[in-house]
Amino acid sequence: MKYTGVLKKMQTELGNPIQYYLVFESDFIHMNQLLNKKIQIEFVGYQCLACGKNKKIFRQGYCYDDFYNQPQVGDWVIRPELSTAHLDIEDRDLEFEKKAQLQPHIVYLANSSSVKVGVTRKSQVPTRWIDQGAHEAIAIVEVPNRYLAGIAEVALKEKVSDKTNWRKMLKNDIVDENLIDYKNTLRDCIPDEVKDYFIEDGKETQLHFPVLQYPDKLKSLNLEKTPEFSGVLKGIKGQYLIFEDHTVFNVRNNEGYVVRLTIS
Ligand SMILES: [Zn+2]
Repeated sequence: MKYTGVLKKMQTELGNPIQYYLVFESDFIHMNQLLNKKIQIEFVGYQCLACGKNKKIFRQGYCYDDFYNQPQVGDWVIRPELSTAHLDIEDRDLEFEKKAQLQPHIVYLANSSSVKVGVTRKSQVPTRWIDQGAHEAIAIVEVPNRYLAGIAEVALKEKVSDKTNWRKMLKNDIVDENLIDYKNTLRDCIPDEVKDYFIEDGKETQLHFPVLQYPDKLKSLNLEKTPEFSGVLKGIKGQYLIFEDHTVFNVRNNEGYVVRLTIS
């Protein structure tokens, strides 16, 4: 089977294990079914997720110009505390920013390699946790807008990292933590404006990834250096495909790349 399309992050469905789908314009590929199969990936070109042109991808699926113009990649995305839609102040497109920022957000703890703190729209739970390759996660506060989530995250970052060690995550070099205890310990660090939004009860979510064999050394596939790769798929974790020869491919980091997949 051959499929050609522009890469976007895989869609997921919570299950045991998590189900992954690669969505191309005319194909919907259920990636779990490709485990133990040989996949060839060929780099065909670029297709910017905004302008659709064959221009080199700069970041997050966008060409250079669009990365600096598109409202969905404003600074407030990575740094929620910079959100200003609640003050009616525009960054790139106020209408877009109001829709994105003025909706329920969650500040959470996720354990992928160690415990980290993060922010996501409530509608993106548990998608966000799956994309990070977290094997367990818990919500700490639920707030009505992105700004409040951002200031809570900034305060909690003093105590907890906000980074994922993707190498440890992929090697499954992980430890189970009691996230409920962790969350309760952090309660006092939440800023006053956010304290009322603390989630009193709430359980850990456990996530199970479809991995048959974890890699012990890692080689990251870069399509610009290696425009043609083939290997046997052994697992999927976060947004990574894991191959038998320890090659890993981050689908999300390759958004906007047009590829041809051949499955045998
Ligand atoms: Zn573009």
